[in-house]
Parts: sequence; structure tokens; C-alpha cells
Amino acid sequence: MRLSRFFLPVLRETPAEAQIVSHRLMLRAGMIKQNAAGIYSWLPLGFKVLRKIENIVHEEQARAGHIAMLMPTVQSADLWRESGRYDAYGDELLRIRDRHDRDMLYGPTNEEMITDIFRSHVGSYKDLPLTLYHIQWKFRDEMRPRFGVMRGREFFMKDGYNFDLSKEDALHAYNRHLVTYLRTYERMGLQAIPMRADSGPIGGDDTHEFLVLAETGESEVFYDSAVTDLTFGDREIDYDSVAQCAGVLEEFTSKYARTDETHDQTVFEQQVPQERRRTARGIEVGQIFYFGTKYSDAMGATVQGPDGKPTPVHMGSHGIGVSRLVGAIIEASHDDKGIIWPEGVTPFHCGIVNLKQGDAEADAACESLYAGLTALGLDPLYDDRDERAGGKFATMDLIGLPWRITVGPRGLKNGVVELTSRRTGESEEVPPEEAVKKIADIYRGHHASEHVPMMGNRSFHTYI
Ligand code: ATP
Ligand code: MG
Repeated sequence: MRLSRFFLPVLRETPAEAQIVSHRLMLRAGMIKQNAAGIYSWLPLGFKVLRKIENIVHEEQARAGHIAMLMPTVQSADLWRESGRYDAYGDELLRIRDRHDRDMLYGPTNEEMITDIFRSHVGSYKDLPLTLYHIQWKFRDEMRPRFGVMRGREFFMKDGYNFDLSKEDALHAYNRHLVTYLRTYERMGLQAIPMRADSGPIGGDDTHEFLVLAETGESEVFYDSAVTDLTFGDREIDYDSVAQCAGVLEEFTSKYARTDETHDQTVFEQQVPQERRRTARGIEVGQIFYFGTKYSDAMGATVQGPDGKPTPVHMGSHGIGVSRLVGAIIEASHDDKGIIWPEGVTPFHCGIVNLKQGDAEADAACESLYAGLTALGLDPLYDDRDERAGGKFATMDLIGLPWRITVGPRGLKNGVVELTSRRTGESEEVPPEEAVKKIADIYRGHHASEHVPMMGNRSFHTYI
């Protein structure tokens, strides 16, 4: 993309209404525009990041054998009356009346709708296990929408639902989701710590929240510093293996890590040596639940069991805050000049800065870099505007592309361009072809198609 043809409405002034750094930077970098309290348009730069995050979530769900679909945002109130949540959900539920006076709502989550789909189409235990998910806009009429996309009213969320014949199978689905989520966050350059949590209005017995540590987090968290040494890395996991998934769950949840809702100071002091006890703030970026037969009992979601008798299915639900993650990543990765995108989610792979627009040699070198990178499947942002170098650097630093190639007549005389890391600020002078090769090498590991083997070991269900 050429910056002269892109739509990047950066702001010079720091917006007064934004209290936390991610909100300020998203506004300044022209990523979002507020429409009403907690409701935003995603401008092109923000939309690109949102899409990258969404894609990582899809790829990791596919790897675990979970099946994508799409449910609507507006739902009929009838199903919510069946589950009892139409009244129980409270003021966060946006209730709507259509022209025929029918009660509708803008979905804050989809347990009822998915349970209805399930009971309409699945009749036998032979169709289990089944995990369906979608990534869709949600609405919760939050009392205090704030911090930009971190606590919006309309927000983009991945929500998944597993259906299993027994509690053991459902707990395997729970563990499998925990593993999937750890890998998902790591691909976004984040370390998210699973913490035992309260279940809230979803209801249920087992639940973990995933928290990213950041000063501006809304939750107070208490943890053993040893948990921050744990990384998922490149390990191969067979998602169908009960033992492997349980092993990862055990590894990542055995050390003390709780939010203030479930924190127990006595247990904390008993379990964790004083030098490893930490108190910090955290941002919730996801949550997984096992809630047994709560919805299947209320809504009659049964399958015919092996004994021929109707058996209520065991369910769980799992959510990732896709739009909140954009803010959470910025909270975890920025400096005083702007955003620093991790390679996995960056809106463009690198920037090209032409120090002397209009200079025939500099222009030609930039065009050639642009063509070379694009031919390798990379997505560079070429700042081809007729602006002074300082302004171009400031824009690149603000929007946070991890790599920048700077091209100027002086370097070209010696056959080199400058390759700079946004994170470290370190630069090296290299011939243009080598800059292209280096950037391609950096991103090779981030190309999903090369990197992520899709697990083909779960059959797809088709229902007519
Ligand atoms: P919170 O405690 O932050 O209100 P929640 O526990 O009610 O969130 P869940 O039902 O667990 O939310 O939803 C799954 C994920 O969706 C959360 O982990 C969070 O990342 C995201 N999320 C929830 N509410 C919002 C919101 N108002 N704005 C943006 N993202 C949200
Ligand atoms: Mg939650």
C-alpha cells in the first residue's frame, strides 16, 4: 500500500477523552473513530489488525478441530425466555422491539441460539463430540464503557460451544480450549495467564480467565512469578489426546494465579514463597467455562445415548475478546513514540520511507523494494508522500510497524538502505535486496499457511 493512497487519519493532538495509552494511540494512529459511547468504526489501519487477530483465532480453532459458523447479532427473545436469562441478564442486555411488537435483543452471547441449533439437528451420541464457534459482534450495554475498544458496548468476540456426551468428554473439551487459547495469544505476541475465576451470569462450575499483565488492567491479580516463565512455544500437541491436553492444563494452572474475585491470601501465602508473590493489574482477554447440563436441561438439548435413552448433553462455552485484544496488545507493547506491533498482528509487515521523494534514484529504489516485498507475499506500507523525513519517521513510529526500510540518496550512493527495528531502535545498512530477504525471513514463521498444519483428524458434520 502506498501511503498517499491509503486512508490514515492520524491526529497530531493527544485526544483529551482517552485515559489509557492504547485508547490514545488507537485514536492518534487513525485506527478507530467513536460513534457513540462504546461504539466505534474501525478505520482501515485498525481493521487490518482486527482481521489479523481474527485470522489467528480461526487458524488455531481449526487446528483444534473446532468448526466455524456464523450466527446473527439480533436474536429473538423467545429462546432467552426458555433459558430464563431474558430477565436474569439485567440491564446489559439491549432489548429491542420490532415493528410487529416482537421482543428481540442484540446478542451479548449465544448459548441459547447454539443450543437451539443443536437440539434441532443433532439426535444421537454418535454425532458427538462437537464444538461449534463463531466470531461475531456482540452488544452489552455496559454501565461504564471506557478505555476505547477495551470496554466497548459493541465488541467483536469469538465464542465457541462444545457438546459432549459425558462430563469427562466435556472436561477434555475444556482442557483442549485452554491449550488452544494459550497458543492463540502467544501467536499475537502476548503472554496470557490462565486464572481460576467466577462464572458470573453464564453459570457453571469450572472456569478460567486469561489475563494479560498491564498497569491499566481492570482486574487486580495475584500470582506466583514462576507462571510468567511458562511459554507454550512450538510444542506439538495432539488435541485429541486427553492426557496431553490435561498435562498442559496442569502445567499452566498448577501455580497460584488468581484475580481479586477468587483470590485467597492465606492460600497464596501458604503456596508461594514470599519472593515469588506478585500483585499486578491484568486485562481479561478470554474465558472458558464448563457448565454441565445447565442449558441442555433448560432447553431440552438431549441426544439418544448408547443405551437408547435421551441424555442431556454436557456443554461449555469459550470466549476470546477479539476487539479488546487490539487494545490489550498495545497496552503490552508500546513506547513514548507510539505502538510497537508484534510481527504476528502487524497491519503492514514493514514501512518504506523515502527520504527524498521526487529524487529519481530514491524513487526507483523504493519502487523496486516495494515490488520485491510484494512479490514475496509481503504487505509493505510505502510512505511516498512529499513530506519531510521527520514527519515520516514520526508517523511510522506512531503506527508501530515492526520494521522500517529507509531510503535516501546518500545511502544509495554506497548501494545501501537502512533497516531499523521499531522495538530496539537498532539500524543496519544493507543492500536493498538483503533488506527484502531479511524481512522475508523474519516473517516466514508468521505465515499461517506454511506454519500451521491443520489437524484433519476430526470428521466434519453435515446435517441436511
Ligand atoms: P468483563 O469481566 O471484562 O466484563 P466478561 O467476563 O463479562 O468480561 P465474557 O463473557 O467472558 O466477558 O466474554 C469473553 C471475552 O470478551 C472477555 O474475556 C473479554 O475479553 C471480551 N469482552 C467482554 N466484554 C467486553 C466489552 N464490553 N468490550 C470488549 N470486550 C469485551
Ligand atoms: Mg469473562
